[in-house]
Amino acid sequence: MSKLQKGLFELEPDPAAWEVAAGEDCLVAQVVFNRPLDTVYHYLVPEGLRNFIAPGQRVRVPFGRGDTSTLGYCVGLQANPTPGKRLKSISEVCDREPLLSQSMLDLTQWISERYLSSWGQVLEGVVPAGVKKQAGTREIVFYKPVADIDLSKLKLPLKQMAVLELLLAHNKPMSVESIRAKVDCGVSPIDSLRKKKLILAERQRTYTGDQELEEIVIQNDLKLNAEQQAALDEIVKTLQNQQHETILLRGVTGSGKTEVYIQAIREVVSYGRQAIVLVPEISLTPQTIRRFRARFPSVAVLHSHLSDSDRYWHWQRIAKGEVQVIVGARSAIFAPTPHLGLIVIDEEHESTFKQHSTPRYHAREVARERARREHIPLLLGTATPTLESLLRTQTGDDVLIELHERVEQRPLPPVSIVDIRDDPLIQQKHSIGRALGNSIKTALAEGGQVILFLNLRGFSPVLWCGKCRGVKCPDCDITLTWHRDKELLLCHSCEYSMPSPKVCPSCGQPGLKFLGAGTQRLEAEVKSKFPEAVTVRMDSDSMRKPGSHDEALTAFREGKVNILLGTQMIAKGLDFPNVTLVGVIDADTLLHQPDLRSAERTFQLIAQVAGRTGRGTKGGRVLVQTMSPDEPVIQLAAKHDYVGFAKREMLSRKAALAPPYSSMARVIFRGLNEEIVKTEIRRIANILKQTIKDKDLQIRLLGPAPAPITRLRKFYRYHFQMTSSKVETLHLLWKDLAHEFKLDKDVELTIDVDPVDLR
Ligand code: ADP
Ligand code: ZN
Repeated sequence: MSKLQKGLFELEPDPAAWEVAAGEDCLVAQVVFNRPLDTVYHYLVPEGLRNFIAPGQRVRVPFGRGDTSTLGYCVGLQANPTPGKRLKSISEVCDREPLLSQSMLDLTQWISERYLSSWGQVLEGVVPAGVKKQAGTREIVFYKPVADIDLSKLKLPLKQMAVLELLLAHNKPMSVESIRAKVDCGVSPIDSLRKKKLILAERQRTYTGDQELEEIVIQNDLKLNAEQQAALDEIVKTLQNQQHETILLRGVTGSGKTEVYIQAIREVVSYGRQAIVLVPEISLTPQTIRRFRARFPSVAVLHSHLSDSDRYWHWQRIAKGEVQVIVGARSAIFAPTPHLGLIVIDEEHESTFKQHSTPRYHAREVARERARREHIPLLLGTATPTLESLLRTQTGDDVLIELHERVEQRPLPPVSIVDIRDDPLIQQKHSIGRALGNSIKTALAEGGQVILFLNLRGFSPVLWCGKCRGVKCPDCDITLTWHRDKELLLCHSCEYSMPSPKVCPSCGQPGLKFLGAGTQRLEAEVKSKFPEAVTVRMDSDSMRKPGSHDEALTAFREGKVNILLGTQMIAKGLDFPNVTLVGVIDADTLLHQPDLRSAERTFQLIAQVAGRTGRGTKGGRVLVQTMSPDEPVIQLAAKHDYVGFAKREMLSRKAALAPPYSSMARVIFRGLNEEIVKTEIRRIANILKQTIKDKDLQIRLLGPAPAPITRLRKFYRYHFQMTSSKVETLHLLWKDLAHEFKLDKDVELTIDVDPVDLR
């Protein structure tokens, strides 16, 4: 029928007799596409492809009105569900092997339902590009010096000499890339040395990621203290029961959670199984990686800088069961382990576990579902659990285990709240007030190291015009930040940049002022106030070069740096015993965000930053500068009182029926024309409101309203939020209606289930 209507009858050859044959004999593939479509489509598998197709492979099929050749994912095979109905045929099977196992396919289907994405979009999002391309491992040329070189007899240009000296000092052959990184040269000195037959080339087919990692000496496990042992016992018990359980390990910073993970993994590995450890991307520091590499012979590290070929190489090794421990950021939850035994999520409270593009899954929830399906434990570790995870232990769904003390009974550092409202230095626009300045001086004099935390990068976050207030990016609702090193005003949301204007770009008024301080200005202030100290700044601007992160931390560890200052990047995971002072420059920046989690984030951050000190015998202290010293969150954080904080915050969330006492879905509309966006969001919100009323659904719809960042990259953004005590109620409403929305072509809609970013 449809074919006649489309007038395509002549263009397609008559289907072979077997294609229309009804019944068991004809094999049909279920296919989904990387489009926002809920439907699973059916295609005939031609005889010739029968032996080559399996669920989890990609196929090419004619799709849509024009029968455009389109890539889709085969998610299942069956007999024709509607015998007699004529189906289009698959034209090509694109992968030799399935990209995902059946159980991972099922998990992606679960994600698509849970997060209201199409199944095809989830598949497209979770299978790494390198795996789809089956990107080959690269063949790399390594160089080593020929035997018997006497440097003193050689006369070489400077760069060639430097390369040769490097290779002689280095015991192993080195790749061109790593030689160039160390010597800062082009390829020609290396080439010349080769032509002079001073160095030899050898080819190796290899993974390129960590070739320069030093040899690691395998270390023994530590002897656990009583609390750690009790935690381990509980985990081992669940492991042996072969039943799923989510265990929340709440342990103050420095209580030795990582050691518990390691020994739990030891158990898992002894059963011949694998473990996945998820960490925030920011904690994928060489320090963390070394800790795991020093205990297990076979560790794969999946971070976001892997090349396609390296990722595929890891993927294959993991699938073959050659890897014991996978350490990685969010997406490592999809690692194709053949026999998973345990999933660990470190710093479970981190918002980076939520993906900010389609499919907008939360790795913690995916991990929970995967662990449930594979009958294994999920271990969540943190000093400051999310209220979502805490509530689950209170309702009895999950188990709570606590480590109350730091290892070796080291005390948590005392935290002083410093009221900077009347501080004359702060009034003169300094970032470091009197009290903090004095403490830094004392700490340095006593040979301690200092960490200063400020969550704004750049030099100055606001360029102030007396009339227009902060000067904004022309494409976004965000004030431009002055980066003094580049002499540019930058937008931190898009790529926009401009040189500093003499007059306000909007109203032409002169007399613009730079207000506020970012890490660059703080660095300048620290250097002028403590000229004798060596200061290093760590933020995403100063740490662009691969390896610079590790370099800075190594220098700090070795005591070559006295003051380390920076953004979030320095708040997590660092374990340096000689840090005796931590200064929080401005505790208020996070607190006054229009976000239901602003108090929670402030508490977490202060706890994290404070956790960087008092880790050695010298002890340590923390100073928190604030303009709101009476804020309960700040006071509770200063007392390290997580329980008190959680109690208070739970009450207020409960009163507001906010998460974790409800589920939320945020619907964002965006488009270049503000009027069209407004009209469309109102129309859709009204349809939803009417349905909620008609069907008497327990859903609250808030909005529509302009999103807090109303303009982003030229697009206008409006949103509304739906909350309900059960996420399933939201699913019901949305699934019923979404396919009926015929949106204006100039408007895009995104739905974010359990959003963590409400901007
Ligand atoms: P957390 O992850 O809870 O912040 P870590 O695992 O980083 O804590 O542990 C803090 C420090 O204590 C690390 O240097 C670690 O090696 C050490 N440590 C952990 N457990 C023990 C133990 N049982 N005995 C001695 N040292 C330990
Ligand atoms: Zn912008």
